Amino acid sequence: MQLKDKVAYITGSASGIGKEIAILFAQEGAKIIIADLNKEAADATAAELKATGAQAIGVAVDVTNEDQVNASVEEGAAAFGGIDILISNAGIQIVHPVEEFSFADWKKMLAIHLDGAFLTTKACLKHMYAQGRGGSVIYMGSVHSKEASLLKAPYVTAKHGLIGLAKTVAKEGAKHGVRANVICPGFVRTPLVEKQIPEQAKTLGISEEEVIKNVMLKETVDGEFTTTEDVARVALLFAGFPTNALTGQSLVVSHGWFMQ
Ligand code: NAD
Repeated sequence: MQLKDKVAYITGSASGIGKEIAILFAQEGAKIIIADLNKEAADATAAELKATGAQAIGVAVDVTNEDQVNASVEEGAAAFGGIDILISNAGIQIVHPVEEFSFADWKKMLAIHLDGAFLTTKACLKHMYAQGRGGSVIYMGSVHSKEASLLKAPYVTAKHGLIGLAKTVAKEGAKHGVRANVICPGFVRTPLVEKQIPEQAKTLGISEEEVIKNVMLKETVDGEFTTTEDVARVALLFAGFPTNALTGQSLVVSHGWFMQ
């Protein structure tokens, strides 16, 4: 068990990638705080984990709301005795060409992806620094932290921004044994991506099959989607790493879509 008795606060973990990380971390002995906008789904996910013998709670949070972030981190920390791992993962996607993007949607995207990362980091670092047992901060970036695609201006901007935040937290956190890293997945078939397939087909005037083959997976080495399990394995590598040797990094898991 690589994460025995570690406490992990995972945003957006009632679905998709975050949920898979919660499942793997629970198997590795961590106590899990399922922090999600959808409280009902968060509670259901926590119940699923508890049914396997793990310790987990669901907490309601909108990651763009400072009071809700602070309250949910405090609730989780009080339940399990601190915070050792933050996975800042909650996210959405909105696609339009730049000239059609509303300013409101631009701000919503940056708020969820960047304000959410900042607020959860600030709230969790407070515990990690005070506890004196180190910690791991992990941001859910994307291949779009390194590369651009049509129609995704705020997403690409925010995901690039997470790398800057991780590098800064890596430098500031080092003396407390707190590491910060970014995971950069390629396309994973979660509800977030299922929603984009028909939207992109409509905007680009091509079929859904063409969106998958010629847009999403075109640059991969084998035409395969990355899976939630692939991403969770990378999260475990970062979370379980014992020293500051692995910090300030961004690791791409994308079937070779992006190679650095
Ligand atoms: P998902 O839609 O399956 O899950 C996202 C979760 O975030 C949901 O449970 C949702 O309720 C929650 N959420 C949304 N807004 C929130 C808010 N304001 N506060 C709290 N919770 C909120 O999506 P996913 O594909 O698992 O995406 C998770 C992360 O992975 C996102 O940051 C996304 O950008 C990133 N990512 C996804 C892919 C992909 O192909 N699916 C690829 C690279 C990166």
